Amino acid sequence: MWLVLGVALVAVSFASIFIRWADAPGVVVAFYRMLIAGVLMAPLTLAGLRRTRPSAAALRSTLLAGAMLAVHFAAWKAVFDPFLAAHGRGAAARPFTDADYRRHVDGIGRYDGVAALLGARGVALERGDPADPPGDGTICALGNRKDAAFAEAVRRHGVAPYLTTRRFVERLRAAGVRTAVISASRNCRMVLEAAGVSDLFEVRIDGLDLDELGLPGKPDPAVFLEAVARLGVAPSHAAVVEDAVSGVRAGRAGGFATVVGLDRARRPDELSQFADVVVPDAADLELVDGRLQAAEHVRVRLADLPAAAEDTDLPRMVSDRPVAVFLDYDGTLTPIVDRPEDARLGGDAADELIALAEVCTVGIISGRDLADLADVTELVGLDGLWLAGSHGFDVLAPDGTTHQLTPAADRDKGAALRWLCAAAAVPTDALVVFIGDDVTDEDALDAVRRHGLGVVVGNEDRSSAAHDRVDDPAQVIELLGRLRAEVVRR
Ligand SMILES: [Mg+2]
Repeated sequence: MWLVLGVALVAVSFASIFIRWADAPGVVVAFYRMLIAGVLMAPLTLAGLRRTRPSAAALRSTLLAGAMLAVHFAAWKAVFDPFLAAHGRGAAARPFTDADYRRHVDGIGRYDGVAALLGARGVALERGDPADPPGDGTICALGNRKDAAFAEAVRRHGVAPYLTTRRFVERLRAAGVRTAVISASRNCRMVLEAAGVSDLFEVRIDGLDLDELGLPGKPDPAVFLEAVARLGVAPSHAAVVEDAVSGVRAGRAGGFATVVGLDRARRPDELSQFADVVVPDAADLELVDGRLQAAEHVRVRLADLPAAAEDTDLPRMVSDRPVAVFLDYDGTLTPIVDRPEDARLGGDAADELIALAEVCTVGIISGRDLADLADVTELVGLDGLWLAGSHGFDVLAPDGTTHQLTPAADRDKGAALRWLCAAAAVPTDALVVFIGDDVTDEDALDAVRRHGLGVVVGNEDRSSAAHDRVDDPAQVIELLGRLRAEVVRR
């Protein structure tokens, strides 16, 4: 789906910020998945689309991002349900489902998707012509009706950009870098405008241009080369920022100076075959001497972080790999209280931790000393967890053995997390998650920044190495439940 929409930030040519305009560096950005988090929607509407119980977090928020997939599903359903009811026979008239969406429509060209779904339901319909107006007389007319329904949803609800990508492009522009955006989507212009980011790019090449110019899609570099040609920049002075393997391949084939792979799913091996730089987010990129590179030390304003409940990349991160989850205690699993001995785990939290520990490695890394931590967790009967006290200096393993990390001078939660991963034999290809609420948690968030998932608890006015944010311990427990569901699903 995201590929069809194709967010491409085209970063072209970073040679220098001091050279004359005609030679100014440029960046081409692959657009949708990098730039657009989703269509903004009222949470109850979204929950209805997904036909699942809305989370408390969703109900609390007035607008919900990360819903692009749901919007496409809803647009298809609005088209297919009445059509199938009128033309399907028996079971073939049943409503369009999530399974239909994944099997027949997702990631496939609009008209081919209609043909596949109708073929599966045994409904014959002429192909027609892409110029057919929206309707139900031909396959193309049905596809165009879906497109119109999607456009209406975008107009009505708006679109949420990834704020970190937006800030990244703004930084480039401020440094004198010329920017273009590429996308396979014919709706690219509308979506960029709805997200309020169309003025970030001098050049846009989208699905309409591809058709008009007869350009092949990725992994052919034609679309990127067209973008830099319009910027007046040579590929050797340009960078490509992409999140799809086909996109980084195209950048490599096009002879671009720097090819950046944006690794939202934390699958660096897939992108690093063709990309010079692989980072989890646009916030991890910095411009040094006219070149894009991975920043060593990444800090993002909490206000710019996406809510973890709306992180649509989570299923791709978790699928088909081991998972290890480490958490801070005070302020993360329990609300901050005046007297530390009152910071008790609620029954829901304890149940969720115990259930999670049955399907993956789970550890608590706290500033409390180990005896104190063991006391507060023993009260609720936590079994099967690793407990690390004094920021990881003293460790109690699930088998009851105790360990001390040395040297003591190195102890911080990042070192503790690495030690625990080794001690728990967490495989190197595992997704390591850390969740914490205060500045002593930043070392551990740094440790998972490049390849794992870091989540910060709170909404203060500060910066963090986390990727996502939750408001409070109740949302931490919801996130643990979601992680467990994804682990169990496979
Ligand atoms: Mg804390």
